[in-house]
Amino acid sequence: MVSVSEFISEEKYLFDSVANGYMSKYFFVPVGSEKDGLKELLVQKGDEVKEGQVIAKGRFENVHSPVPGIVSDIFVGDYGDGKQGLIIKIMLSGAFSITGKKHDKIDWKIYDSSSLAFMLRDAGIENTFKKAEPIYKQIKEISEKESKVLVIRLFDEDPERCTDSFVTRKFSQKIYGGAAILARAIEATAVVFAYEKSFKPDESVLGEYFDSDAKLFFVPIDVKKYPFGTMHDLVSSIKKHKSCRNPIFEKLGAKDFFVDSVTLASIYDAIVFEKPLIDRYIHVNGASLNVTGILNLKIGTLISSVVEQFGGFKEPPARIIINGIVTGLAATGLNVPISKNVKSITFLPQEQVAPQHTEICIRCGRCRKICPVNLWPGNIYRAAHSENEEPDVLKISLLCSECGLCNAVCPSRIPLCQTIALVKEKIKE
Ligand code: SF4
Ligand code: SF4
Repeated sequence: MVSVSEFISEEKYLFDSVANGYMSKYFFVPVGSEKDGLKELLVQKGDEVKEGQVIAKGRFENVHSPVPGIVSDIFVGDYGDGKQGLIIKIMLSGAFSITGKKHDKIDWKIYDSSSLAFMLRDAGIENTFKKAEPIYKQIKEISEKESKVLVIRLFDEDPERCTDSFVTRKFSQKIYGGAAILARAIEATAVVFAYEKSFKPDESVLGEYFDSDAKLFFVPIDVKKYPFGTMHDLVSSIKKHKSCRNPIFEKLGAKDFFVDSVTLASIYDAIVFEKPLIDRYIHVNGASLNVTGILNLKIGTLISSVVEQFGGFKEPPARIIINGIVTGLAATGLNVPISKNVKSITFLPQEQVAPQHTEICIRCGRCRKICPVNLWPGNIYRAAHSENEEPDVLKISLLCSECGLCNAVCPSRIPLCQTIALVKEKIKE
């Protein structure tokens, strides 16, 4: 484990407010690629759309127009994570029907589990606990399981990001409500709140939301030592905690349901206010900017217009990182849109960017020493690139929690974590 002070910036908990993003003239809404299960397009060039209107429909989720406007183009373009896919370009025009309007609360307790699941599909909710996935698909997958545990992470797994922690503190009622709704949707047997020690959920308030048979558990997490927030870390902390000495947790793992705070907030908005997923809370930061903060940004906003809102650059960025400097990915440029999986954008100037050229492995053993699950990442990397099949070495990569620590210490700058993640995907396929 590594001290978080190696990653953390002083600003982490200084935010107590969120501003709405400016409205630019155009929005570029990612629809997905064929590999992600391309959605059926419901609009064409020239169509008028309302804010929140379904513009593409998929088996597991819908995509909505984030603003009222006119569809001015549909094309294949770059997403922030380096992937490509269809983008619907919308020119802003007309009146807003969701943003800035007061909406009546709906009593969600009248809905049963399957109605809630369909409503979450229709509202386009994605679970961003790890890699963003349609929540409806995950609800379907867990439905076969007899004993279902819902694990809620109330903080960010990346030490440099503070989006989930901010949403937890600022909108705790939405988090409690979203947790209760999701618990009902999956018919959870147990719900575990994994919280950072300084912010325990209020058990007396939670009682107002939970009236199901699900048992509630509370597990404090030490967020001073990294890694602490991957699924592996949470499973290990829960199993060790005295309040969780319960047979329910014996087989806790990938087949259970793990969710983050921002997803719970969007679940609450979707069910209680019938608001589809058209915007996101995003932590915008980095030494290239003059100011940093949390914005509520419409899906489809270009990163370049976020920079404009922050008054431009103090220093041009050498790298733009989506979702945190330890676990995130580099964006391909400023002209990529915010998609449903974005939680933070970090702009790093040249002096904070390590040289990127990779060297050969010098077998220094640092990756092996730091790996919290005792793997030898360098060895797996070599096996992945070897011509001789080494199935046993590769199979062991399934234990990797993708914490990114091996990347951080490798003097040869070898993309160990990314390679192991690809190996894992291949094995699962
Ligand atoms: S192999 Fe790397 S990314 Fe995976 S758990 Fe070990 S240190 Fe973390
Ligand atoms: S840290 Fe990098 S150079 Fe050192 S053994 Fe691991 S892969 Fe090789």
